[in-house]
Amino acid sequence: MVPLDDGNGHMPVGDLPHTMPATLNVRPPHVALAIAAHPDDVDFGCGATLAKWAAGGCHLHVLVLTDGSKGSWDPTQDLAGLIDTRHREQRDALACLGGGVVEFLDAPDGELEAGLLERRRVCEVIRRVQPEVVLGHDPWRRYRLHPDHRNAGWLTTDAIVAARDPHFFADMGIEPHRPRALMLWEADEPNHVEDTTGYLDTKLAAITAHRSQHLSTLGIEPGTEAFTAGIASFRRRLKAQMAEHGALVGLGSGEAFRLIEGI
Ligand SMILES: [Zn+2]
Repeated sequence: MVPLDDGNGHMPVGDLPHTMPATLNVRPPHVALAIAAHPDDVDFGCGATLAKWAAGGCHLHVLVLTDGSKGSWDPTQDLAGLIDTRHREQRDALACLGGGVVEFLDAPDGELEAGLLERRRVCEVIRRVQPEVVLGHDPWRRYRLHPDHRNAGWLTTDAIVAARDPHFFADMGIEPHRPRALMLWEADEPNHVEDTTGYLDTKLAAITAHRSQHLSTLGIEPGTEAFTAGIASFRRRLKAQMAEHGALVGLGSGEAFRLIEGI
């Protein structure tokens, strides 16, 4: 299989190094919060799962921690313009998945810290949005280099611990909230699969809504013929990856996660 890895850690095909018996499908939540380092991470990590839940009436909330301002190979890129573009693209992508709210913390791309101030901001979002299920990066994923993905994972896990307990950030003035499940994508040891049968093209639409990333992340060249071929090639790789994830539970299409319950 052709690797999908773009150097930024975006879910290559053949990305399940450690497998174990996996459960299938959590009870669909009424509210889901997906927390990502960058615009497009949510769509790669759990786009099909979110779309499936949204079709059943789930309210989707996406929190993007950085401003995406490193997402260009052009050294002369207007960075303020790029940030605006990436905000807009993330909103377009969520519209493809069924719609919802997108929120940005706008830390500088590549410089996300997992400190107490950042944890407080993520905790505030969890308490305000009151998600039943939180989804995010797996901070324990081995040998991934991008610091934002690691730190976004730590912020997600640490903010969940803070959000559930009244003695953390007690001055915040918002009731504690305890999600019933945490689902980590790009998991080091996936133990759960969501059936995504029928959602390949929805996930493809969300990922490709990030038009500024077509060349740098997806390898899709501009120009009518090259674009059509590039989209078709990327679709094949995405389909192969979803087949690989689904195969963990004997399905033809899935998204694999590390599921943590009993939070
Ligand atoms: Zn990313």
